Amino acid sequence: MIDRNQLYINGEWVSSAGNGTIEVVNPYTETCMAKIPAGSSDDVERAATAARSAFSGWANTPVEKRVQLLERVHQGLLARQDEIAGLITAEVGMPLKMAKRIQAFLPPVVLESCCQLASSYPFETTLSNSTIFKEPVGVVACITPWNYPLHQVVAKVAPALLAGCTVVLKPSEVAPLTAFLLAEIIDEAGFPAGVFNLVTGDGARIGEALVRHAEVDMVSFTGSVEAGKRVAALAAESLKRVTLELGGKSASLILDDADLARAVKGTLNGCFLNSGQTCNALTRMLVPEELYAEVAQMSVELCASFKLGDPLAADTRLGPLVSAEQRARVRKSIRTGLEEGAELLCGGPEAPNELEQGYFVQPTILGRVTADMTVAQREIFGPVLAIMSYRTEVEAIRMANDSNYGLGGAVWSGDNARAMKVAKQMRTGQVDINGGAFNLLAPFGGFKQSGYGRELGEFGFEEFLEVKSVQC
Ligand code: NAD
Repeated sequence: MIDRNQLYINGEWVSSAGNGTIEVVNPYTETCMAKIPAGSSDDVERAATAARSAFSGWANTPVEKRVQLLERVHQGLLARQDEIAGLITAEVGMPLKMAKRIQAFLPPVVLESCCQLASSYPFETTLSNSTIFKEPVGVVACITPWNYPLHQVVAKVAPALLAGCTVVLKPSEVAPLTAFLLAEIIDEAGFPAGVFNLVTGDGARIGEALVRHAEVDMVSFTGSVEAGKRVAALAAESLKRVTLELGGKSASLILDDADLARAVKGTLNGCFLNSGQTCNALTRMLVPEELYAEVAQMSVELCASFKLGDPLAADTRLGPLVSAEQRARVRKSIRTGLEEGAELLCGGPEAPNELEQGYFVQPTILGRVTADMTVAQREIFGPVLAIMSYRTEVEAIRMANDSNYGLGGAVWSGDNARAMKVAKQMRTGQVDINGGAFNLLAPFGGFKQSGYGRELGEFGFEEFLEVKSVQC
C-alpha cells in the first residue's frame, strides 16, 4: 500500500489542511493500492498564493536557467522510467510492456523537446517600429485526466514552466501517483519555492476551487467534454485564459484503393490502445459498402488477437478498464448500440469468461452502425469499434464530419494525394494518412467540442505566452 499523505506546496511537502483521503484502486486486483489526500480549499489557497508569489521571480529568470532546471527533471524522469511504468500499469491497467513504451517513454521525450524549443524560441522580435515581447501568462492551473496520466501532466507543466509561468497541478484523482513522483523530481532539481505546486482531490471541489481562484490566470484542462464546459463557464467569470483538450469520436476512413490489411490493423490498434481509453481512439471505421463484408471479417479475425489478461503478463494486449464505473458505462454503451440496431460482430457486454477479477470489457466490434445511433455519436472510452459503410467519397467525408467532436482521424488510400485531399476536408485537429506516426512536435488538439487550444511543440508552448508590442 502506497501512502501519499502530503501535498507539495511552496517548495515543501506539507500536510493537507483537510483530513480526507482518496483511495486509488488497482483495476486488475480490484483492491486499494494507495491513498492520497482529498485536499481542501485551503490547500488550493496556499498553492495558488505560493504560485503567485513565485511568479515574478520565475518569469524574470533567464530562460537558460529555466531550461537547465527542466533538464534535471528530464534526467530524473529517465532514471525512474521503470517505476513510472509500474505505477501506471497498477493504477490504470495498461499492460506493462506497453506502459513502458508509451506511458514511461513519452514524458521525458516531450520534456526534452520542450527544452530544445524554449532554448531557441524568439521571445523578442521586431515588427517595423514595434518590439514584440512574448511573456508568460502567469499562474497556470493544470488539470489532467487518468488515461495517460504523466504524459498529460508533462505536456502542460513543462511548457508552462519553460515559458516562465508558475504552476498548480491537480492530477486525476483516479491515477495520481506519478504526479507525486514528478513533484519529488522537481523538488530534488532545486526549483525556487512556489514555482511548481501539487494539490490533489476531486474535480467538483478542488478542480473548481482552482478554476475560480483569483490568483489563477490560466487553466489548462484535459478531460471530458462535460467537465470542460463547466471549467470554461467558471473561468469565464473572470475571463481567464482556458485551453481545453477534450474527448473524441475519431473516424478511420478507408478509401476503396486502400491496403485493407494495413488499414484494418491500424484502425484496430488505434481503437483498442489502452483498452480504448484514448482520446483520439479511432472508434468509427468507415468502409465502402462493396468492401464491408471483407473488412468486417478481417476485423473480427484480428480482434481475436487482442488478448485480455493480467497487465503484468507479457502476452496481454488489453488490460482492464480503469474502474468499475467505467466498465459499467462501456457495457451500457454496447447494450444501447445493440438495442438501436447495430450488429454484434464480436465481443459484447458480458464479462469475459476466462477472467475472474479485473474491470474487463471484451474487445467489441459493432457492425452496420448508422450515424443516428448513440454508438456513432458518443465517446465510449472502451474497446468498442463501430463499423459504418458508405457509398461515395463525398458521403464518407460527410459521415466522418457528422460528429460534435473533432479531435483525430485517419485516412487509408493507395494514393497519397487522394488521401491528402480527403484529410483536408476532415474537420478535426489531427489526421493520420496510412498510419502516419504520432509527431510530438505537431500541434495536438480539437475542433468543435473536442476543445480549443493546442498542446505539444511550438503551438502548445505559445498557449502559455502573452503577446506585448512596444512602439518606439
Ligand atoms: P474528467 O473530465 O472526469 O476529469 C479530468 C480532470 O478534470 C480530473 O482531474 C478531474 O478531477 C477534473 N475535473 C472533473 N470535473 C471538474 C470540474 N467541474 N472542474 C474542474 N476540474 C474537474 O475526465 P477523465 O475521466 O479523467 O478522462 C477521460 C476524458 O478525458 C475523456 O473524455 C477523454 O477523451 C478526455 N481526454 C482528452 C484528451 C485530449 O488531449 N483531447 C486526452 C486524454 C483524455
